[in-house]
Amino acid sequence: MKIVKADYIYINGKYKKDYGILFNDKIEVVDIYNNLIFKYPDLDIIDGGENSVLYAGFINTHTHLEFSANKTTLKYGSFLPWLYSVIENRDELINSCDEVIIDNAINDMLKSGITSFGAISSLGLDLDACIKAPHRVVFFNELIGSNPQTVDSLYQDFLQRFEASSLYQDDLVTPAIAIHSPYSVHPIVLKKAISFAKNKKVPLSAHLLESKAERDWLDNSDGDFKEFFSSFFNQSKAVTTVDEFITSFDSYPTHFTHCTEANNNDLKRLKEKGHSVAHCPRSNRLLGCSRLEIEKLIDFNLPFSVATDGLSSNFSLNIFDELRGALMLHNKADINLLSKKLIDSITTVAGKVLGLKCGDIKEGYFADFVIIKLPQKPQREEDIALLTILHTKEVDKLYIGGKKYV
Ligand SMILES: [Zn+2]
Repeated sequence: MKIVKADYIYINGKYKKDYGILFNDKIEVVDIYNNLIFKYPDLDIIDGGENSVLYAGFINTHTHLEFSANKTTLKYGSFLPWLYSVIENRDELINSCDEVIIDNAINDMLKSGITSFGAISSLGLDLDACIKAPHRVVFFNELIGSNPQTVDSLYQDFLQRFEASSLYQDDLVTPAIAIHSPYSVHPIVLKKAISFAKNKKVPLSAHLLESKAERDWLDNSDGDFKEFFSSFFNQSKAVTTVDEFITSFDSYPTHFTHCTEANNNDLKRLKEKGHSVAHCPRSNRLLGCSRLEIEKLIDFNLPFSVATDGLSSNFSLNIFDELRGALMLHNKADINLLSKKLIDSITTVAGKVLGLKCGDIKEGYFADFVIIKLPQKPQREEDIALLTILHTKEVDKLYIGGKKYV
């Protein structure tokens, strides 16, 4: 066992001074530092040093590693042109995304303090890298397919990928299920996949209402998606409606990504049924999507995480870049309150969303934590969350399951 101390430890929404943590692979005791060294005088001590702040390890609930090769290929600015560029370059992007590229993406997350992440996997090509990663990984096998002629074989392929990832299930790897979106998954297989997730008791996630094009298509079978579906899938009508899609998830709490076009009714419904939202501010901005009105989510008490999405719609997987993006995007929110919400969104909230025993400095939880260093002594405790977000690019120390990786 070891003891770690820092100038401040973020516990239960408060920056506690003079605290320490006794840990091995799990957090054993959280107490005032002097009490700990009195009770356990002979243990190794890790000292965060001057101006240090210790947080539970950060959790990125939503990323796509298989698209990590994109840097200059995809077209940003508006959803449909981006989607066309994905389709045009998909094979090349996936084929050029080798182990080195995925490992670099994973390593960038690690350096920014991410100790757990949710990987949305379309093809299973990122499974090996996710298993080798030091992180806790929730491996979301993605289901896609709206054409009734091909959905069955796509569903079989999805099941095989799910089973392959299940072989590695342990404290670090959780197999999980992702539904691509309401417009791309046929209701028949959607229902099957949801009951499968419920049966297996694994995390479930779905993209939802990311673009205006998606809303128009689901509401009226019209808008920018009309031409897209007619030319690629010979389809003139959406396979489902927003209500029908959301209702399918009523019995199983799900992590919905984006929701930028969700209206008040949709958001209230998500809250009522125990769902949560993954907010990807930079991805939304780059694809020309609306701003997610997180003030409404806060009003409705609908839990949200902040996540990076993949490098197919972002320029880094650094979680602090994402938090700074959120801080600038939501320019009307009180800056200190928002900063705390953002920190909570990648710790406490994200841990609950992914069903992991981490994200909190709490006895019995995994010893996943990070230490960051502020450039100078903070003058006011209420500024620490904001200062952490503004001044951190990489963490100073990082532990997963009590082992040091940074
Ligand atoms: Zn996504």
